[in-house]
Amino acid sequence: MCIFCKIVAGEIPSNKVLEDENFLCFHDINPTRKIHVLIIPKKHYESFDVVDPSIMSGLTEFTQKVAKELNVSESGYRLITNIGSDGGQEVPHLHFHLIGGEPVGRLVR
Ligand code: 5GP
Repeated sequence: MCIFCKIVAGEIPSNKVLEDENFLCFHDINPTRKIHVLIIPKKHYESFDVVDPSIMSGLTEFTQKVAKELNVSESGYRLITNIGSDGGQEVPHLHFHLIGGEPVGRLVR
């Protein structure tokens, strides 16, 4: 079982922000910004590249609720999903990073 599946199953503790039947949001263990949470489907998909597209509208709605819960809808935030080795993905369970709570800066090379 992957580490995020273990979090879903309650085998590894997490600091939860929001949860429903299909999705879970919890604080990243190693935050890179004032706000840094992870949003995942409870069902295991290795990455965005192989996710069933039909879950994406539910994931979108859930993410909008998370943004409201964290009070970042007005100030703005960034969503990131890393895919595979060139994408820098370390945990092989689809997740979106939501970062914010301060200006997150431009994407620069
Ligand atoms: P990736 O590089 O795969 O996009 O991001 C994985 C993220 O998961 C990293 O930001 C890392 O800090 C976070 N992470 C890894 N293990 C755990 C854990 O056990 N609990 C929590 N809350 N976050 C984790």
